[in-house]
Amino acid sequence: METKNQLRKKILNVRNNMSEEEATSKSRLIMRRLADLDEYKNSGTVFIYMSFKNEVMTKELIEKMLSEDKRVVIPYTDIENTVIIPSEIRNMDEDLVLSHYGYYEPVFDKIKTVEPEEFDLIIAPGVVFDRERNRIGFGKGYYDRILCRKRNDARIVAPAYEFQVLDNVPAESHDIKMDMIVTESNIYR
Ligand code: ADP
Ligand code: MG
Repeated sequence: METKNQLRKKILNVRNNMSEEEATSKSRLIMRRLADLDEYKNSGTVFIYMSFKNEVMTKELIEKMLSEDKRVVIPYTDIENTVIIPSEIRNMDEDLVLSHYGYYEPVFDKIKTVEPEEFDLIIAPGVVFDRERNRIGFGKGYYDRILCRKRNDARIVAPAYEFQVLDNVPAESHDIKMDMIVTESNIYR
């Protein structure tokens, strides 16, 4: 089997080469399907990533959640300690700022920490997945480290393009599985 690193490179190469039109239209489809799930409808507190580059785009769903009065929690990435600090936001324009690395994150001075035990739904990013719902991220384990702290009844959903879902990928004991993967053409659960 190919290593995690080989698979990351291969799939990132495809994702980075998608046109903006393709990424935008598939993202809309994926997010519409995600918002149709009972797990979404029944959730109050949602931990969701801010998409960057060609990740499945989350901006429109975040706006929808804020308008529906869901509690929206976004990662602040503490690179020095390799941990995510989950922070509640109320307004996308006022509470987020562009980081040095090119993604939006909560304004540091306004961080309102939310404990992982409070999440009802987690919308997780990933680079490669498989049909067993294993996930490969960027390789630093940020999400494994926070997902292992969720409540048992909280659900993890990963939005992904269909080409990111392979038959089988390597998984280690620290890797946390997704409960669902939603693509433009399938829902794996
Ligand atoms: P990714 O999930 O981002 O693809 P990996 O699964 O390869 O990355 O994990 C990267 C590193 O993070 C590994 O060295 C792993 O030991 C570490 N790691 C993952 N989960 C945890 C955890 N719960 N506690 C401590 N270290 C962890
Ligand atoms: Mg992992």
